Amino acid sequence: MKCRMCGNPGEIKLIRHNIILCRDDFFIFIKRQVRKGIYETKMFSRNDRIMVAVSGGKDSLVCWLLLEELGYTTFGLHIDLGIGEFSKISREKVEKFAKKRRLNYEILNIKDILGFGIEELSKGQRTCSICGLIKRYWLNRYAVEHGFTAIATGHNLNDESAALLGNILHWQIGYISRQYPVLPAIHPKLVKRVKPLYRLEENEIRLYADLHNIEYINFSCPMRKGATSPVYKSALNFIEKNSPGTNHNFLFQFLEKYRYYFKKEGKLNLKECSNCGMPTTEEVCSYCKFLFKEQKHAV
Ligand code: SF4
Ligand code: ZN
Repeated sequence: MKCRMCGNPGEIKLIRHNIILCRDDFFIFIKRQVRKGIYETKMFSRNDRIMVAVSGGKDSLVCWLLLEELGYTTFGLHIDLGIGEFSKISREKVEKFAKKRRLNYEILNIKDILGFGIEELSKGQRTCSICGLIKRYWLNRYAVEHGFTAIATGHNLNDESAALLGNILHWQIGYISRQYPVLPAIHPKLVKRVKPLYRLEENEIRLYADLHNIEYINFSCPMRKGATSPVYKSALNFIEKNSPGTNHNFLFQFLEKYRYYFKKEGKLNLKECSNCGMPTTEEVCSYCKFLFKEQKHAV
């Protein structure tokens, strides 16, 4: 089989696009998709200071690499969540990746901030939602305090379509209305969040990482509890196998046509948390409420 682009021997089949590419044209395809996503959503410009949230997984590392390859100025922030071996290896992958490519980064250790890691959360907590809350809070706070104008995450097409499915199944209208690869900075202390890989499928990213010899953490977090996203992902993967292109159509039809129907539902009125000063819809932000609760448990 020949490469659709150059006619040389093809080695990579992209099922959803029904094309075969050689390695070089696969790399060009990936970069083109990312560039297109950035351009079409007006994600950021060359003037933005982009902080990449790097977990040590393939998606965030590829995101960081691609933004660098496309000529953006980036900085990596890794949050060490304090989840035993999982966090130790994740951190090592990030450090190795950054040092090899001479990229700027920093590690934020949750144990240093909270005095305990995610592993030691009070029993009965919904671990993933608390962990997500802590990560979101510190990514934003770090970015605000260090003058970054965009936070890039490695969310891919499969993540986004799974999130959309979950939100539709539970009719989370507010979330549906805000689902977009760019979440604007609607408050002076809220940094824009962007998802440059939203046009790429997970298997395309894995292949890109492997062909670039990126070492990433390839086992799941042992604390995964109460996360529904993997369920929606496997449901969509099952449909995708029988009907290639479903994930793509589901997400892109929504982004291009149907999200406008939900627009009015998504307005957020943000004020500053009376405790920490970060943006929130309530008097005290969810992060501070969580801290107060943890302190009570500790007494
Ligand atoms: Fe945190 Fe859950 Fe992800 Fe583990 S799986 S890192 S606990 S959000
Ligand atoms: Zn607060």
